[in-house]
Amino acid sequence: MKIAVASGKGGTGKTTVSLALASVAGTDALLMDCDVEEPNCHLFISTEQQREKVYGLMPVIDKALCTSCGKCGKICQFNAIAVLGDNVLLFPELCHGCGGCVRVCPTGALKEVDKEIGEIGGCRKDDLSLIDGHLSIGQAMSPPLIRAVKNHGGKEKYIIVDCPPGTSCPMVTAVRDADFVLLVTEPTPFGLHDLTLAVDTLRELKLPMGVIINRADSGDDKVKAYCKAEGIPVMLEIPHRRDIATAYSRGEIMLQAAPELSLMFRKLLKDVENRVSEVKK
Ligand code: SF4
Ligand code: SF4
Repeated sequence: MKIAVASGKGGTGKTTVSLALASVAGTDALLMDCDVEEPNCHLFISTEQQREKVYGLMPVIDKALCTSCGKCGKICQFNAIAVLGDNVLLFPELCHGCGGCVRVCPTGALKEVDKEIGEIGGCRKDDLSLIDGHLSIGQAMSPPLIRAVKNHGGKEKYIIVDCPPGTSCPMVTAVRDADFVLLVTEPTPFGLHDLTLAVDTLRELKLPMGVIINRADSGDDKVKAYCKAEGIPVMLEIPHRRDIATAYSRGEIMLQAAPELSLMFRKLLKDVENRVSEVKK
């Protein structure tokens, strides 16, 4: 079962929830940190990682074969290639490696070469196993690295995916094949605004979802009212506690500071399981 933990905005407690869920599932779970631009789950596991490089495809041009027809510039959705007169300019930092330009080039002037896009890391400490991605600096291609991380899933009962924040390509790549998505938010106007965007995205993808309200007692009731109106279950409310925040800042998993919350997370895992069974009936 793949459970994606996502949020419309960063800083809502997505990683805290992912780590707590993986902790209560223990050896039954593999935690995947797909927030490859800013992976931080490994900081809480604090053990040495084995890393391997990941490569993506990047176009290169043979100017001798180019007729300046302009087809490559027209198809590129990321403005990563431009044809100006007799010149074809490539901007590698904008390229997403989709291969469109290479396919439409009528003369074979463009071909694809391997380019390092980042690294995949893996580690295990006690019952917690982690796979994560680390995007190289200056690299725009996070979706291929996220896919590479996701391809490393084993036969664990639960795959917990810590997704990138937001609602753009990286988040969509991370949640796409999830059985259930937990959206972590906070009870503030910003939390509500970004939650509505994330809900719209998940509805487009037709994915079942539930909401977790972090720092639940620190804001207003508008997130709850929104969830009620939209028929989205609020599956967990995490209290705003200084000891939890302090533990996070020390790189400790929330349940180390507040072991009494383990029961809540075990129940959450069970609730998700029941909802997934319902959906699959
Ligand atoms: S599609 Fe090929 S031939 Fe046409 S401008 Fe681009 S590189 Fe040159
Ligand atoms: S591979 Fe895709 S993103 Fe990169 S330059 Fe070609 S069309 Fe643009």
